[in-house]
Amino acid sequence: MPKSKSVIIIGASHAAAQTSVSLRQAGWEGTITVIGDEAVLPYHRPPLSKDFLSGQKAIDEILIRPAESYAAANIEMKLGVRVTAIDRTNKTVQTEAGETLHYDKLILTMGARIRRLPVPGEGLENVYYLRDTADVLAIKKKVETAKTAVIIGGGYIGLETAASLRKQGLAVTVLEAMPRILQRVTAPQLSTFYKRVHIEEGVKILENVSASAIQKTETGLNVVTGCEQNLAADMVIIGIGVIPNVELAAEAGLTVGNGIEVNEFCQTSDPDIYAAGDVTWHYNGLYDTHIRLESVPNATEQGKTVAAHITSKPKSYNSLPWFWSDQFDLKLQIAGLSTGYDAVVIRGNIEQGRSFAAYYFKGDRFLAVDAVNAPRDFMFGKISLTKGVNLDPALLADAECVLKNCVMP
Ligand SMILES: Cc1cc2nc3c(=O)[nH]c(=O)nc-3n(C[C@H](O)[C@H](O)[C@H](O)COP(=O)(O)OP(=O)(O)OC[C@H]3O[C@@H](n4cnc5c(N)ncnc54)[C@H](O)[C@@H]3O)c2cc1C
Repeated sequence: MPKSKSVIIIGASHAAAQTSVSLRQAGWEGTITVIGDEAVLPYHRPPLSKDFLSGQKAIDEILIRPAESYAAANIEMKLGVRVTAIDRTNKTVQTEAGETLHYDKLILTMGARIRRLPVPGEGLENVYYLRDTADVLAIKKKVETAKTAVIIGGGYIGLETAASLRKQGLAVTVLEAMPRILQRVTAPQLSTFYKRVHIEEGVKILENVSASAIQKTETGLNVVTGCEQNLAADMVIIGIGVIPNVELAAEAGLTVGNGIEVNEFCQTSDPDIYAAGDVTWHYNGLYDTHIRLESVPNATEQGKTVAAHITSKPKSYNSLPWFWSDQFDLKLQIAGLSTGYDAVVIRGNIEQGRSFAAYYFKGDRFLAVDAVNAPRDFMFGKISLTKGVNLDPALLADAECVLKNCVMP
């Protein structure tokens, strides 16, 4: 490969960190420039609502790689720099500072940004969102003096944030607009379980309650809700989901829907432009469907897929989606996609305990497992899904049947 060839990666997070290093490992000899608008080296985003927020980890401890490893691989990191346009005819990108940079291959890893809550007062002081280190540093500063917090949004990030603040002694209320927390992502049994644990840990959970405004008061903030009482709080944190950063790609004429469309090699509709991570709308052969995933393993796997294709060692992307969430002493591990399930089999004591697994089925087909403090169930489910081994719901429902014997005869 000629040394003069250049790769530019836009966005400097999980997908970029993996793609850049994988390119070097795969023998790419040209230049690699990573351009990210955050002024920090790529860091692990999941701890933001967990160990980093609760003060158990400092920023140096959540970096994906130390600065030296990018330097050693001759990867140029342009941090605190925003790309504002892509010119596909001249194969250049434009930065906010007016710099024009040429690429031979361009990789889009711009991820996603927070969805704003469309109510009056969401921009007030002491109202926060949580997507990057700057957000969390501001939250941590407020936590030093705050006594009460309202979290708007009962998804994983909202609940992780609630757990982290509760552990630091704040009185925390979670508002969920839907009838149950985690409604979009999990079965009712799991929502009930998480509600119980949060209540046991002292978090107040209000379901079916929306915030219609946030007001500044003499003592702090007031969250106006549809229910009879409004909620006073020292701080409010909003976690109601994210939006993929597709605008640069759309303006450059690439095919874009709920994410930048890519093929099995993570190539966009322009063969010299790739995309990886939260920003992609991609096909998953295991589920025969197009999806957009917000998960670190996906960003990492797609990064490897891009590097393999650019260095002429194509390997199509076909990974099993998996995720995790940590709240209090609960380690949730999820393998597969439960979308469209019509039956759930629970193994373990979900009613009173804190360790169990929920196996999701559609008809006879095993789709996914949610395992709480149950790593063996997670691994068993993950391996079964990856290998295409179907499980038998009736055998799984029998607590006496050991896992390895629960496969469909
Ligand atoms: C609080 C929190 C907790 C999470 N917990 C988990 C978890 O437990 N498990 C899990 O699997 N996943 C978790 N996730 C999701 C996970 O962090 C994402 O899936 C992952 O960060 C995706 O990586 P990415 O590289 O695709 O994009 P991102 O991490 O979104 O990074 C994209 C980067 O590109 C930058 N950028 C965007 N546009 C431009 C531009 N024009 N110019 C320059 N730079 C630009 C952005 O600022 C950002 O730094 C969590 C996310 C959050 C926020």
